[in-house]
Amino acid sequence: MNILIQLAYLLASILFIVGIKMLGKTKDARRGNLYSALAMFVAILATLAQVEMISLVDIFICILIGSAIGAFIANRVEMTQMPEMVALFNGFGGLASLSVVFADYWLNTQIYSYSLDSITGTSVALGIFIGGITFTGSMIAFLKLNGRISGNAITFSGQHLLNLVLFLATIVFAVVGMLDQAEPMYLYILIGLSLLLGILTVIPIGGADMPVVISLLNSYSGMAACMTGFVLNNNVLIISGALVGASGIILTKIMCKAMNRSLVNVLLGGFGQTAVVKGGEEEQIVVREVGVEEAAMLFDSASSVIIVPGYGMAVAQAQHIMNELSEQCEKRNIDFRFAIHPVAGRMPGHMNVLLAEANISYDKMVEMDQINDDFANTDLVLVVGANDVVNPAARTNPNSPIYGMPILNADKARTVIVCKRSMGKGYAGIENELFGYPNCLMLFGDAKQTITKVVAELKEI
Ligand code: NDP
Repeated sequence: MNILIQLAYLLASILFIVGIKMLGKTKDARRGNLYSALAMFVAILATLAQVEMISLVDIFICILIGSAIGAFIANRVEMTQMPEMVALFNGFGGLASLSVVFADYWLNTQIYSYSLDSITGTSVALGIFIGGITFTGSMIAFLKLNGRISGNAITFSGQHLLNLVLFLATIVFAVVGMLDQAEPMYLYILIGLSLLLGILTVIPIGGADMPVVISLLNSYSGMAACMTGFVLNNNVLIISGALVGASGIILTKIMCKAMNRSLVNVLLGGFGQTAVVKGGEEEQIVVREVGVEEAAMLFDSASSVIIVPGYGMAVAQAQHIMNELSEQCEKRNIDFRFAIHPVAGRMPGHMNVLLAEANISYDKMVEMDQINDDFANTDLVLVVGANDVVNPAARTNPNSPIYGMPILNADKARTVIVCKRSMGKGYAGIENELFGYPNCLMLFGDAKQTITKVVAELKEI
């Protein structure tokens, strides 16, 4: 039986590795997801096959309750709330790891009066530390993303020093707690400090820098699961946790590059302050409006078009109409592509997922680095609900919180149409000078409704 379980774990690990590798390419991503789900199914079956301490009936009741809650939430959540959901899942992953390692510690040291070996002890301490930070850090990210607390950086003097002192204190309590395993008080304090550090390291991160923190928390949740694997001596948990941890770090690096931040800066926390603009300081931007008919005519006469999707496309659920716009352009032999900024939307890969959902072909979605030089030779750029990712302040204004962040060069095109509802700001909370550029036209309205009208006009021409 044991050999069968180990073989099942091996199969699950291989499926996890293949699955995650396939997630690296958009066209294989769906299959990769399926392989990973299958891996999880095999791993759960293998784990259930060796349950000893509680009855399978109890486990199934818990699974039913968990699944019912999951299905209820998944049914209710809007597509635009997915980023918050991901933050919530990360957080609960961290909490689960913390709970499991603590339960294992309790069982061994308090009930059986055993003492943990150094590897298990270190993994318990790290599991509590990383799991605790992941839980409360993700909860803060969740609250920031759904607007229940301000998305701006919350800072106070001495913040870094306090974080450093708390971090050193966690090391002290972790070491003492493992040297004196019979006394659980040290680990209670370690739990408290880790939860506090999670809050304190995420609140100072604001505005446009949130993508980095989200991918980092994603990585933390994997590392916490990996520690749980060491504590339980479970290879598949070690491998899957390490995979999530490593891919989260890779994603964090990609996000850092996209935001032009260093990883050290991220790990220390407290970066990316949102601009505080005092009353009357903002310059009034004078814009030129364009109507639906005129916009359709500009499409009709263009020979190259780039669409820049952003968070507003997700809000409006305008991805499906993009497909029809693409068909209209293809009919006219217009070179038509989507330019994808790595931090567009509210979660990594947000735009790719939405466009793929609308069956836009993958070769039409081009990453920022590949397409940025082409804007200057493009007739028409349509910015659909994007704002920060095309804000030239990132190049021109050293005082801007997004200064230094690479942006899509939409402003370099011959004509830019920006489709959004108002002069509302983006997530970073700053004005966008692009809207006032001479080559920029504002097409005000909800993206789905407005682009639907443009497509209808194009069908008439
Ligand atoms: P932004 O948040 O900069 O701008 C979105 C724009 O969409 C708003 O200005 C809004 O303007 C417009 N909008 C909203 N609803 C609609 C609608 N129904 N129809 C048309 N337009 C609409 O989005 P970007 O994608 O450009 O940038 C992403 C930002 O989010 C960056 O600052 C990034 O750092 C941050 N972020 C990204 C994460 C990620 O992982 N990708 C995670 C967390 C934050 P109006 O109200 O006038 O319509």
